[in-house]
Amino acid sequence: MADIIQLLPDHVANQIAAGEVVQRPASVVKELLENAIDAKATSVTLVIKDAGKTLVKVTDNGSGMSITDARLSFERHATSKIKSAEDLFNLHTKGFRGEALASIAAIAHVELKTKTEASEIGTHLTIEGSKVISQDPAVVPKGTTISVKNLFYNIPARRNFLKSNPVETRHIIDEFHRVALAHPSVAFQMHHNGSDVFNLPSSNSRQRIVNIFGSKTNEKLVPVSEETEILKIEGFVLKPEYGKKSRGEQFFFVNDRFIKSPYLHHAVSSAFEGLIKNDVHPGYFLFLEVDPHSIDINIHPTKTEIKFDDEHSIYAMLRATVKHSLGQFNIAPVLDFERDKGFDTPYDYSKKQPTAPSIEVDKDFNPFKERAKQGNINFPFKREQTASWESLYVGLKDENTAVSNLGDIEFESEEVTGSLFENTDAETGHITFQIQNKYIVSPLKNGMMVIHQNLAHQRILYEELLKNITVKEAVSQQLLFPLQLHFSKPDLEIIEKIREQLEHTGFIFSELKDETIEISGIPVLILESHVVNLLNQLVHDIKEEVPDNGFSQNDMLVKSMAASMAIKTGVSLNREEREHLINQLFACKEPTVSPTNKPVFTTMDVSDLDKKLM
Ligand code: ADP
Ligand code: MG
Repeated sequence: MADIIQLLPDHVANQIAAGEVVQRPASVVKELLENAIDAKATSVTLVIKDAGKTLVKVTDNGSGMSITDARLSFERHATSKIKSAEDLFNLHTKGFRGEALASIAAIAHVELKTKTEASEIGTHLTIEGSKVISQDPAVVPKGTTISVKNLFYNIPARRNFLKSNPVETRHIIDEFHRVALAHPSVAFQMHHNGSDVFNLPSSNSRQRIVNIFGSKTNEKLVPVSEETEILKIEGFVLKPEYGKKSRGEQFFFVNDRFIKSPYLHHAVSSAFEGLIKNDVHPGYFLFLEVDPHSIDINIHPTKTEIKFDDEHSIYAMLRATVKHSLGQFNIAPVLDFERDKGFDTPYDYSKKQPTAPSIEVDKDFNPFKERAKQGNINFPFKREQTASWESLYVGLKDENTAVSNLGDIEFESEEVTGSLFENTDAETGHITFQIQNKYIVSPLKNGMMVIHQNLAHQRILYEELLKNITVKEAVSQQLLFPLQLHFSKPDLEIIEKIREQLEHTGFIFSELKDETIEISGIPVLILESHVVNLLNQLVHDIKEEVPDNGFSQNDMLVKSMAASMAIKTGVSLNREEREHLINQLFACKEPTVSPTNKPVFTTMDVSDLDKKLM
């Protein structure tokens, strides 16, 4: 094959959005996978070691490079993909800047082996810190293998800046997913530290999604398809009941390139309006095709943002198409979130005796009432669990405590007996009330206290769970019918890793294999119907950040659990619940701050009011 790589003339190079191409091992993975796709490979293998910090190696069976191209490919602005500035607006390839290999070679030990179909013998190049160390002929199959070793070896500061291996691996897997989803007909494999992570055969788009995210995904998908003059949309959305509290699977591809677009995300979300709750995010895999002339990809260094000429029409079409699909597949009956969860829980309820569907809607639903109705022994505001109010009082007088700013505020009830509210009722004028179902206001003798209900409950749960997880004596509630939950393989691995800690909080796992978890017991603090969300949130949080040492991992786990279990803003609490919450809060060791260090309450005394009003 003839040489095809050219150096871009300066005036073209200068139009290219400049920026840091390599930020972390995942950036290398993205660039190498994309190069393999651009080389028309039908099979691509990714091998990483130590989350890509030691090695990222991509092998493809694509076009390969001639000897000259192999050398040129590491020059800055050397590319075979565009020739002129106009080409920037007619892109059919992932890459076009000719910068990736040059940037990678500057900060790593790179080895390239490549051969074209036409040539007998291939090329083997080694480069360190942009310098060619060796160049030899090599007997290699058609295609290209690029190994990138010891990333940032010559920039220790950057290397130290990398996150823990699980976090960097997560980023790599995200990039791998994005490229693999966009190119289902290409076979992909991924190995990490010698073990198989993914083995994705050539397939169609639906099979690819299922192969990546687990076999249970298949039944969750609703096809989306539309074609107009300016836009073709194919893909799937997840049925509304599989929306997640945390951002789950949300993928937009434009002309086979993964892109991030809050604007298009909004279009899809709005198509789900009325079908899912406000704080639940829809899942989607949407493949948009537009005329390459009608978009600009060259606006961001990582090429994950693009500009459409006709954004508004695309928004409208996307929204209408998704809405239509949801309607057509009969996904649009009015969902009522507070109804008997037996009918739409995502886990397998098949073993449960059918019960008549209840259409009763409890507008004031809140988990605590439900628990009380069920007669659950662990009503979270159980009075007996409440430490005496005196302890708060003592704390208040101690100048060294964090609450000492309350020191000169006297509480209304002078005769404190056991609990702040025990001797009070509405008649004596001692009332608490809620503002906007968010804050609880409680009068103090000399002023008032305003408590953030969600943060307060997080603090309470956090201390309770942290105790359980460290003392390892949590009580479980046995489930009559074990819950079966389905997770993708990587997610399941995460749960496997924290299994022991979860068991210390009260979970009992009867089975954990093949994308399925069977749970026969759960912590007493949780409702059965919240387990799915809780585990999803946990997995999500762990993907975002896994501290390496065991102690802080417990802490992170417990924070995440407390955040997802705590009563939310928007839940109305009756008097008893409000008072229990306050009592429990002040039985905590550190009632003043939430687990994430936000203030839980504030107080105002008469002098503060005087300042405002006089
Ligand atoms: P870009 O992809 O923007 O052109 P790169 O620095 O990623 O820039 O690659 C430079 C050139 O090297 C490409 O244009 C291509 O011609 C060649 N190249 C890189 N990777 C491969 C590969 N896996 N197979 C064949 N050619 C490749
Ligand atoms: Mg490239």
